[in-house]
Formats: sequence, C-alpha cells, structure tokens
Amino acid sequence: MNHARELDGHKYDVIVVGAGLAGTMVAKQLGDQGWRVLVLEAGTQTLDTWPGHLDAMNTFYAALAKVPNSPYRPNEAAPSSDVLHTVSKPGGGYESKGYLVQNGPLPYGTDYLRANGGTFMHWLGLTPRMHPTDFQVRTTYDYGLDWPIGYEDLEPYYRAAEREIGVSGDVAEQKREIGLPFPEDYVFPMHEIPSSYLDRVLARDLDGTRVDSAHTSEPIELKVVNTPHGRNSTPNNMYDGGKGYRPVEAAGLPNYGERCVGNSSCTPICPVQAKYNPLKTQAAWSQKVTLAARAVVTRVLAGENGRVFGVEYQAYDDPAAPVATTHTAEAHIVVLAAHAIENAKLLLASQLANSSDQVGRNLMDHPVMLTWGLMPQPVGPYRGPGSTSALEAFRTGDTRSSHAPFRAVIANWGWIWAAFSPGSDVAGKLGIPFSTQKPRGKAVYGRRLREELGDEIGRQFAFQFEMEQDAEARNRVTIDRRYRDRLGNHRPVLTYDLSDHVKEGMAVAQHVSQQIFVQLRAESHTCYSDESPSFFEYEGAPFEFHGAGHGAGTHIMGTAPANSVVDQWQRTWDHPNLYAVGCGSMPSIGTSNPSLTMTALALRSAEQIHRDLMDLHRPLMAGVGTSPADRPEAAK
Ligand SMILES: Cc1cc2nc3c(=O)[nH]c(=O)nc-3n(C[C@H](O)[C@H](O)[C@H](O)COP(=O)(O)OP(=O)(O)OC[C@H]3O[C@@H](n4cnc5c(N)ncnc54)[C@H](O)[C@@H]3O)c2cc1C
Ligand code: SF4
Repeated sequence: MNHARELDGHKYDVIVVGAGLAGTMVAKQLGDQGWRVLVLEAGTQTLDTWPGHLDAMNTFYAALAKVPNSPYRPNEAAPSSDVLHTVSKPGGGYESKGYLVQNGPLPYGTDYLRANGGTFMHWLGLTPRMHPTDFQVRTTYDYGLDWPIGYEDLEPYYRAAEREIGVSGDVAEQKREIGLPFPEDYVFPMHEIPSSYLDRVLARDLDGTRVDSAHTSEPIELKVVNTPHGRNSTPNNMYDGGKGYRPVEAAGLPNYGERCVGNSSCTPICPVQAKYNPLKTQAAWSQKVTLAARAVVTRVLAGENGRVFGVEYQAYDDPAAPVATTHTAEAHIVVLAAHAIENAKLLLASQLANSSDQVGRNLMDHPVMLTWGLMPQPVGPYRGPGSTSALEAFRTGDTRSSHAPFRAVIANWGWIWAAFSPGSDVAGKLGIPFSTQKPRGKAVYGRRLREELGDEIGRQFAFQFEMEQDAEARNRVTIDRRYRDRLGNHRPVLTYDLSDHVKEGMAVAQHVSQQIFVQLRAESHTCYSDESPSFFEYEGAPFEFHGAGHGAGTHIMGTAPANSVVDQWQRTWDHPNLYAVGCGSMPSIGTSNPSLTMTALALRSAEQIHRDLMDLHRPLMAGVGTSPADRPEAAK
C-alpha cells in the first residue's frame, strides 16, 4: 500500500479517482500499456488480504441485518449510502437518515460501498448484455434518451469484459431466446451456472405457456432462461479458439480459484470468492499502477485553458475518527471512476463539465417490484446464487412505447427480500408480528414449529421484476453547502421519482405475475404496505418497489456538448483531458444489470485514453519509438 501523504508533488500520466470496477479496469489497461497510473481510493484497503476477507465474513455473520453493506466496517471519512438509512415516516412517506440527503418524492432506495473494490464487493454477480434495441429507445419507442453508439460498437468490448470478469453462461441460449448477436463460434469463458431446482420446476410448469400482457393483442410465450454470471463455474475448453480459460483466483489467496458451491451469501459476500470482485483484477495490475487508499478526492483542478491538471485530495489514517491533511497530485489525464452519484458530486463540487447543465441529471436505477408466494410443492429455496434464471420475454418489443420493459428475475432466496424471511417466518410462528401495527398472534413451539417452518419456507418463491427506468432530467444529484460529511465534503442530495412509463410497466408486471401464479397453482402472499418507504398508488392500485443498486445516468454520453456531459469515449465535452467513466455515462440502461456494459465502456475508454496520451507525447517521442515503454521515464 502507498501512503497517500507521500505522493505530493508526483506527476502521473493518469490519475484514476476510485478503485471500484470501472477504475480498476481503466487502470489495468493503461498500466499494461506502460502508462504511470495513480489510483486514489477514498476507502480503506483492508479487503485485499485473506485475513481482511475473513474479517469481513465475520462482520457479516455478526450483523443483525444482513444487508449489502453489513460485512464492511463504517468509514467516517468516506461514508457509504446504505439501504437501512431509508426508513418510513409514521403516517406515510419516508425519511433518509444516513449519508444521502433525499428530497423525494420517492426514495432512491439503493446503496453503494466506498472501500477498495467499490460496490462490486457486494454485487449479486449477474452479467447480462444489453439488447441492441436498448441503445435507441428515444428514436424507436419515444421515451428516454438514445446512446451515441450502438451494440455493434460495444460488442468486441463486451467480449473483453466477459474475459476480465470471467463470465459463465450459455451463448447459444442467449442468442436463441433473447436475440443477442454474438460472433460465430463465440462461447463464454465458463459454462453456465447450473439452474436452481426452482428454475427447473418453473421451466417445467411455464415453458411454452402464454400470458396476456394487457398491451398486446398477441399473448406472450414464457421461457425460463439461464442468466450469465460473473462467478466461477466449469471452464469451457472451447473458449478462445480452444485455448480454454483459467478462472481468476481469490484476492489475497492466489491459487484459490474456487468454483461456485452454492453458499448463497453472494450479496453481500462470497466466502470462497467464486464471485468476481475487482481485487482479483488489481492483483494483476502492472507495477506502473500505484494505488493509494484512504485518499478522498475533493475536487478536480483545472487551468484557464479548459484542461485539467490534477486533483486535490484528503489523506486520513483512522476511518473511525478521521483527521485529514490536504494534498494534490498531477497528471496529464484525470479519470473519475467514483460511482455515478459520486462522479456527479465531484464534478459539481469542482464546477466542471457542466456547460450543458446535465451534470447530476437523469439519475436512474432498475426499480424492482417483487411478487411472492408459496408453491404447492417444495422448491428448495435459499440455495445457490440469488438468482440463476429469468423470464426474458418482456425485455423487448413494441409495447415499450406504452410501458417500461422488464426482466422477470426468478429469486432463489425465498422471501428474503420481500418479507425478511426466514427470520420473519420464525418470529411470525412465535406470535411476533412483523409489523408493530399488527396484533401479536398465537405462538407454536417444538415439533409443530419445525414442521410448519419446514413446510412453508421450503415452498417460498419470488419474482423480482426489474424495470427499465427512463432518463428524466428532474431525477438528479445536486450538492448543497448545508449538507457535509465529517471531513467537510458534500453529501449527495438526491431528487428521485418514477415516471408513469415505469409505473405502467409495474402494472403490466403485476398482471403478468397474477397469471403466472394461477398457472403455477401458487398461493400469492404479495402485499404492499403503506408503511413501506417506497409505497405509492398508481391508477388506484398499491405498489411498492426497491432499489437494485444500479445507479446510472448522472453524466450521460451524447452526440453534442449541448445535450450531454461526455462524448462516446466518456471524455467530458468541456475538458479534453477529463474523463468520467461508469454507469453515470449511460443515457439508457435497458433491463440488464449494468456492470458488464459499464466494463465494456471502460475498456473502450481506456483505448481512447491511450490514444490521447500517445498524441500528447508524440512530439517528445520523435525518434524514440511509439510505445509508451520507450519513453525515458518508463524506465524509472
Ligand atoms: C446490492 C447490489 C447488487 C448489485 N448486483 C449487480 C449485479 O448482479 N450485476 C450488475 O451488473 N451490477 C450489480 N450492481 C451494480 C454494481 O455494483 C455497480 O454498477 C458497480 O459497482 C459500479 O461500479 P463503479 O466502479 O462505477 O462504482 P463503485 O463500484 O461504487 O466504485 C467507486 C469507487 O470509487 C471510490 N470513491 C468514491 N468517491 C471517491 C472519492 N471522492 N475519492 C476517491 N475515491 C472515491 C469508492 O470508494 C469506490 O471504491 C449491484 C449493486 C448493488 C448495490
Ligand atoms: S452461491 Fe455461494 S459460492 Fe456461489 S457465488 Fe454465491 S456465495 Fe459464492
């Protein structure tokens, strides 16, 4: 580890702000090409070692509420948002009690993690590609915003991202069932993660059956489709023209390239590190990459010529009681990779890149609506990854003009998200109601308690309808001098709501869900409580949603400086050597979990940054050679 205080005065080719997935990938590519890269990371670096990983596991085991951030110790210098911070207000509505300042109307119920490795330390691990039609929703379906590039521009980078993350999946099925284009003979690095028993029961009962979507004259045919994952399964010998693939090892324990064994705690932490995390890529960084943790970047420094020349940051030692000293670091190019919300906050605090007035706007997520019930027979929940398959038929098609599309994700972990099961089931059987508003029930004990729990928990299943959210300028991140953290830095102020396009999508998903429950002969237990922070009514019906953690769209890419913050390379229009990478650049997010697409974008940007650096150095390199490694300073 490099101490952030000792870096003062050094000049780098590139400074990357944030060692999450996007920053880790950019640093890897540029370091491999010989450029000197400084990565400044606000959080601590304790997770890189095996003892650090075990400490996080133990913190998770000890936590009362098993939420995404529970394995990771709080950090007063670089606070994280947390799902537990959003609470209901008596009489309706919500309050945000933590790091994020929220002024509604609906809560942004999603979190992120500020520690080395970033939010990807607690991701679920799903890596679907976006569909080609997701890139042109404004032109084709008249909502949201278009991308300046298309699927075909990203396709080679999708393959590069699938190699870096180590994706397991079935290309033939993705082609056949979703219509995703892949090159001839391409296979994922690893075979698909086996479908869960629940997936197989649902496939048996649903495949080939049809439901009415309320917006089409033609019924829609159902098919359970396995989802690509960023977790190790069996390597595919056909990968890379028959060379095969070696699974990436665990961070802090080389040669421990464990396969997914179904421990079922992927969100927030995989005990055997079968699930990918960015620390695995960091372990393969070249020596040209310097990581300095406990370094909170506070602003980007710009000259009068519109070019940026470095960053200001605060170095601290103790995350529990931080006292910071302020420093600067300089570079030819600065890359913000601090998460969609933090990138926007940094740009706003630096008063940069905002000639379009788009910085912070178009904040998106995949709002998740849950439906849940009991199957007539046991389906073996609470095993394996949180989800292995989904119904994909609702992602595409002309109905997108009238409502948001969605993926109907099959949830393997029973009612854990919907009703805090199995803890709430045990409490319920002991007569303790989940809501304080409800009266205590009659308790059962002993053998009857065990039998009833075994029967009911074993039949639990749920659907997570993950809706595409359209970009809307009113949904935004701002800063306000009144709201600061312990080090005096801005806390993000969020304004968030759902459009009628999304709400109509949820109504359609409800309608579809009801038909599926009938087909499955399942007993629905879905109920939306007006005590929930994210409760709302639409067309007289009750709804409730959750955040997916897919923060996106705060520094969108576009075709011109007037309509966007960054260009197709994620380079800010206003400052030719300032990049902002991550999901914040996405003008639309389709229905796919966004991080594979984000990684593809980051790898594509790294190529452009390399070209920019080559251009910057060209006069100096006359007669020396064209490789960055040929430059005199590369030998130091
Ligand atoms: C519960 C959950 C489950 C998820 N599951 C999936 C999934 O299955 N599939 C999927 O595709 N996506 C998933 N996501 C989304 C995914 O985690 C994010 O898209 C991804 O992590 C974003 O990467 P990033 O590098 O942009 O940001 P981050 O991963 O958040 O990394 C940003 C880094 O920047 C650092 N940083 C922040 N501010 C500063 C500063 N001022 N100075 C220096 N450093 C700073 C942070 O500490 C952090 O290390 C999930 C998210 C959540 C919350
Ligand atoms: S199911 Fe278990 S082994 Fe597999 S990725 Fe999740 S936590 Fe790791």
